[in-house]
Amino acid sequence: MTAELRPILPPLREVIATHGLQASKALGQNFLLDEQLLDRIAAIPGPLKGERAFEVGPGPGGLTRALLRAGAQLVAVERDSRCLPALAELAEVFPDQLRVISGDAMEVDARAEVGDGTHIIANLPYNVGTALLVGWLSAEWNPLPWWSSLTLMFQMEVAERIVARSGGDHYGRLAVLAQWRSDARIAMKVHRSAFTPPPKVMSAVVHITPRPTPEGVRLRHLERLTAAAFGQRRKMLRQSLKGLPGALEALETVGIDPQRRAETVSVEEFIEIARTLGKTSA
Ligand code: SAM
Repeated sequence: MTAELRPILPPLREVIATHGLQASKALGQNFLLDEQLLDRIAAIPGPLKGERAFEVGPGPGGLTRALLRAGAQLVAVERDSRCLPALAELAEVFPDQLRVISGDAMEVDARAEVGDGTHIIANLPYNVGTALLVGWLSAEWNPLPWWSSLTLMFQMEVAERIVARSGGDHYGRLAVLAQWRSDARIAMKVHRSAFTPPPKVMSAVVHITPRPTPEGVRLRHLERLTAAAFGQRRKMLRQSLKGLPGALEALETVGIDPQRRAETVSVEEFIEIARTLGKTSA
C-alpha cells in the first residue's frame, strides 16, 4: 500500500489505551511514543526499503511503525500477548511487510525465522538485552554473521560497556566481544523522559556493524582469555592469567608486560594474545 493510500495510524497513546497495554515492569516495558524520535532510530541502520529486519519486543508498535514506514520487511517477536491485537492492526496497514511471532526472543531462532542479511533493531527489554547481544555477537561468522547490523537501545551504562576503550572503568569482556570483529558506537543518547513510563536511568542506541574475523583467532580462545583477565581485573596479568595454559608464554611472545592489568590491554592486544594462544592450544 502506498503512503498516500495508507490509513492514518492512531496515536500510540490511543493504541495503548484501546488495548489496555499498561506497562509491565517484569517485562521491561518502557514505551517510546515520539514518532519523530522513532523515525530517527529507524534511520540509523541506513535505508531499509526492501531490507530484512528483526525486532525484539515491538510492544504497542512504535518502533515497528517506523521500521515499516521505512519500507523494511519485518519479523518481530513479542512475549506479551496483550500486544498482539495492536500489532495485527499494524500488519493490516502495511500488508506483506510484518510478521509477528508470539514468544520469547531468548528461545526463537531468529536466523531461521528471518534469514541472512538481516538488520536487527530493537528497544530491548533491559532484563534480556545483554544476553541477546552476547548471542548475536557470538554467532557463526563466515566471513560475516547472519545479521548485517545491530541497532539496539540499552541503558546508558550497558551502552558504555559495549563501546568502551581500554583504560576506563567500563572496559571489560563485553567491550572486547563487541569490538574484536565489529565496529560499535553510540549513535544516539535518549533522555529517560522520552519513555513511558520513564526508567530511572538514561538510555542510548548502540549501532554495531560486523567486520571479518581477524585471521587465526577463535572466539573460544578470546573468551577464555578475557574471562580470566577480567575475572580479576585489578590484579596483574601474571596473576590473573596464571591458570590459563599457555597464556603467560603468549604474553611474552606478543611482548606484553605481565605486570599490566586487564583494563589497560587494548582490544587489538587481546586479539594478538588470543592468536598466539590459538597456535599452542586446542
Ligand atoms: N518496542 C517498544 C517501544 O520501543 O516502545 C517496546 C519496548 S519495551 C522496552 C520492551 C518490549 O519487549 C516489551 O514490549 C516487552 O513486552 C517485550 N519483551 C520483554 N521480554 C521479552 C522477551 N523475552 N521476548 C520478546 N519480547 C520481550
